Amino acid sequence: MKFVSTKNKIEAEAEEAIFSGTASDGGLFMPSVIPKIEPSAYNNTENFQLFSNKMLGVFFNETVLEDDLNEIVSEALNFEVIQRDLSKDQMPISLLELFHGPTAAFKDFGARFLAASMSKIIKKQANPKAVTILVATSGDTGSAVASAFHNRQGFNVVVLFPNGRVSPRQQHQLTCWGNNVVSVAINGEFDDCQRLTKEAFAQEGKFKNQTLCSANSINIGRLLPQATYYAWSSQRYFLKHGMQTSFIIPTGNLGNAFACFIAKEMGFPIENIVFATNANRTIPDFLETGFWQPRPTTPTLASAMDVGNPSNMERFFHVFDNPETLLDTLRAVSVTDEQITNQIRSEYLDNQILCCPHTATALHVYREFSNKEKKETHWCIVATAHPSKFEQTVEPIIGEEIAVPERLRALLELDSSFVTIDPELNQLIEAIASA
Ligand SMILES: *Cc1c(COP(=O)(O)O)cnc(C)c1O
Repeated sequence: MKFVSTKNKIEAEAEEAIFSGTASDGGLFMPSVIPKIEPSAYNNTENFQLFSNKMLGVFFNETVLEDDLNEIVSEALNFEVIQRDLSKDQMPISLLELFHGPTAAFKDFGARFLAASMSKIIKKQANPKAVTILVATSGDTGSAVASAFHNRQGFNVVVLFPNGRVSPRQQHQLTCWGNNVVSVAINGEFDDCQRLTKEAFAQEGKFKNQTLCSANSINIGRLLPQATYYAWSSQRYFLKHGMQTSFIIPTGNLGNAFACFIAKEMGFPIENIVFATNANRTIPDFLETGFWQPRPTTPTLASAMDVGNPSNMERFFHVFDNPETLLDTLRAVSVTDEQITNQIRSEYLDNQILCCPHTATALHVYREFSNKEKKETHWCIVATAHPSKFEQTVEPIIGEEIAVPERLRALLELDSSFVTIDPELNQLIEAIASA
């Protein structure tokens, strides 16, 4: 399959789409078509890796990844996807836990698939240049990307984070890697980190022996693997219960939600998709008014969803020719910090569910539904991160310490190191040169 830009429909091969992130016309890459599948063809594929390999094969056939896809998927998606049944009183509901990867957030799926794919691609090049992955993060992206590329031959990683503005545990996960990962604390905000990476990409000529790459969430190599767990969980549920699944997805930049939309378009048994946002209301306001009005970001307790200008919206605009259909199809609910706090507490006390602030937004949306709506479909709440990553928010609310999963504990025991710089391009260029 070829990939096309959302702007001028420029066509590109898979390796270009994966390595450049955004298209040369400034658009985002999309598969040239979203192919329809027959879900029953997946009935006998009970294993998540085999299922994902088959599903992603539809997009990567006749590309540079075709022959290696099986290996890429088995290496990258090598951790569990757990769907917990929480049904009560004929109201079918489950929780889809996407946080069993190495850095305990769903971003591991995309980051690991991207890293494994890029590795295979550079191994096929005659004279590969060293690749430097430059990534700005306000938390989860940086650790998932650093973990995925750590000790990978041919790659360096430079992670920029705002100094003093990530939690101590998050900071440790950004700075514990060493070897080919350089962590840079920027004296500034997340926006400064993002601006600096953009400036660095614009000066790419200065980095003679390196190819600079972004691994941000709009990369198609991160997006497509995220469609697999929606397809897989809905298909398994349908086989067992004869019922379609509707997902409620904690949403920031709309990457995870768009991936779900891809799985639905392909023909997997998915009914509704509801976006749960925090107080950053750009998406719900658009669906209410029909005007797309990006805003400055408001900080909230669900910090990984603090996005005032969700970039993946452009993909929805690209897919829907008719704006009316788009407005009729999508559904979003905004959740306040107070509601997040109350939800974390009540889920823990009433339902023995320990959830992170992001997952709490989706649970809140579900709990507000009428009983009629709860009975109409199987609702699946997407759990995007392990609560122990956000202990500073969750522990005071529940009044208890959260047990840290073994894999995170191991990271927290490693030494941490980073350099601190002012938000100036010259200083960043020096840091990159030392990578
Ligand atoms: C990144 C992230 C989100 C938001 O996902 P998008 O794809 O940006 O919409 C939600 N929850 C957690 C824990 C995240 O890390």
